[in-house]
Amino acid sequence: MRTFTPPSGPGRVVFGRGTLTRTRAEVERLGRRRVLILAGRSTAEAAAALEESLGPLVVARFDGAVMHTPTEVTEKALAVALEHAADCVVAVGGGSTTGLAKALASRVDVDQVILPTTYAGSEVTAVLGETTAGIKRTRSGPEVLPEVVIYDVDLTLGLPLPLTVASAANALAHAVEALYSPQATPATDAMALQAIGDLATAITTIGADPHDPGVREKLLEAAWLAGTCLGAVGMGLHHQLCHILGGAFALDHAATHAVILPHAMAYNASAVPEVMARIARAIGVTDAPSGVHDLLRAAGAPASLRELGLAQADLAGVAATAAGASYPNPRRLDAPDLAALLDDAWHGRRPAGTAAELSLLTTQVLASFDATPSPRARRLLRDLVCHLHRFAIGNDLTEAEWRYGIDFLTRAGQVTDDNRQEFILLSDTLGLSSVVDVLGGARTPDSTPSAVLGPFYCDDPPHASHGTDLAKGMAGTPVWADLRVVGPGDRPIPGARVDVWQSDDQGLYDLQHPDLPEPQLRARFFTGSDGRLAFWTILPSEYPIPDDGPVGQMLAAVGRHPFRAPHIHFLIDAPGHHRLVTQLFVAGGEHLDSDTVFGVKEPLVAPFEQGEGPAPGGRQITGEWRRLTYTFRLARGPHPPENLASLDQPTAPST
Ligand code: NAD
Repeated sequence: MRTFTPPSGPGRVVFGRGTLTRTRAEVERLGRRRVLILAGRSTAEAAAALEESLGPLVVARFDGAVMHTPTEVTEKALAVALEHAADCVVAVGGGSTTGLAKALASRVDVDQVILPTTYAGSEVTAVLGETTAGIKRTRSGPEVLPEVVIYDVDLTLGLPLPLTVASAANALAHAVEALYSPQATPATDAMALQAIGDLATAITTIGADPHDPGVREKLLEAAWLAGTCLGAVGMGLHHQLCHILGGAFALDHAATHAVILPHAMAYNASAVPEVMARIARAIGVTDAPSGVHDLLRAAGAPASLRELGLAQADLAGVAATAAGASYPNPRRLDAPDLAALLDDAWHGRRPAGTAAELSLLTTQVLASFDATPSPRARRLLRDLVCHLHRFAIGNDLTEAEWRYGIDFLTRAGQVTDDNRQEFILLSDTLGLSSVVDVLGGARTPDSTPSAVLGPFYCDDPPHASHGTDLAKGMAGTPVWADLRVVGPGDRPIPGARVDVWQSDDQGLYDLQHPDLPEPQLRARFFTGSDGRLAFWTILPSEYPIPDDGPVGQMLAAVGRHPFRAPHIHFLIDAPGHHRLVTQLFVAGGEHLDSDTVFGVKEPLVAPFEQGEGPAPGGRQITGEWRRLTYTFRLARGPHPPENLASLDQPTAPST
């Protein structure tokens, strides 16, 4: 069990598009009157827009923020602030500009309103990193935490692609290290995982259109979440290495994060395998460190410290400093291992090992679907491969187990013919058919739930008129079915096509008697002007699904029975309404709570009441008979496709 005390949250956050115009109101809300604008060259346009919007509140502007917050620059900005008696700094720019605002707030009484233009996340932390004579030190305190953060997605639309990817890697690093921080809470876990998933998707897609406001919005949102994690919990080895490299060698902050992250993750992976598995899942890969490496490299992020201008000779000193510093990290810090990590990062090597090799394999298979014309087919195939690979890797699947699986599927294919569909039985008994049914069921709160079609549907059954006896004298308890089909507001639907099919009292469908001269216990009706149909049939009984094949062996092997609860099938089509495929279950019947295909839904359990008085239609019955009364409620929707047989076919993936 973990113990935690979440820190008080960051200041006020305003998020959206065009929110720069809300800056004046936010400054006034703080009761401040004398604004010093902080900006950089690349955010001059935004600073000008701020000046115009803030009007007379602006007393000065300083454009010289520099990365890693050197104290000499802070001194210059401080002089400007004091000269103009500023009581508020409004900073528009990346982490460097934010850092300068924080440095000023730590020295004089100014409030901070920050408009971030990168994904650095500094704006929501109470941490300030300052560099003096090549040494970067951090300090924190409530005065450092900005009072207001205004996220304006529009300010990020023009962030160049290389900066975007590197800065997104910076945000990714906050989220990754938050997950294995000793101070992690359920809240930071949730924020970090959401941020990691969104960042991975955005990093993959932003190259196609760097100005896409939708992707930019996701990036900025994820940067806020990741920054909030950074502000809430302590960071580990990765941040420590970037901190040393940035302070001592003035390496680009975000680019350094992009290079180091996969290697720091690979270093820690053996100490926090569950965290790495969660990250891998969020990113959609099988191995987190190499997955992050591949993700960033594919998006064009720098791969090596060599590219960033670090001399190889400097690595040993960095390793020694990192090993000597005290900070929480899941794996013990060991100078030789850290030196190896840095060597890999300097060369830009891909994290190695079996996990990385497997991840590369998955990546190669996924890439083989890149040219699939249908985006839907591509997505389904990629996802299927991801899940299959993860299943094999996660379970350490043996060759013998894999062979058994192949043999099982082969036997399922061999037992399948025109009348026997073992794969549908497999899908049914694994609950997949019911999952697809729930996903595709066109339901409104008051429409009748759907249920699986099952393997025994036949297109174009014989037409029958009202009052017909589907049982044609077969053994079984007679049932008078008196049914209604209605639309929204209980409006009767005349002319609805209703296909009915069920098993006989031995639990067998007509399709299972290949020598029957004609279909049995199956018919097609059309509702009358009052939306009604009525017919005689027999009480369905529970029955086992065909269990003499591999599916039956599977059920026996796991101690499950093969029985379906007693039911009658219906497929109802009416113009202007969604098709309804469903089943009615006999209240009080066997196996209602353990139906082997997981098909029973409470609203579909219908009373088959004891019949009293004369039987309908003038039928003479000496013994017991039952009465089923039920109203099917259809949702309004598109007219169903004419080809009912297509329901039996594997549907071609659509776009
Ligand atoms: P940055 O602010 O220096 O920006 C990187 C580059 O991008 C700069 O050249 C900048 O001019 C340009 N840029 C920024 N926004 C732009 C835009 N919208 N369009 C075009 N160009 C734009 O770098 P950064 O990576 O955002 O931040 C790094 C700094 O932030 C470092 O000093 C780091 O230590 C600090 N930081 C601190 C914390 C903290 O919690 N204390 C957290 C993260 C980063």
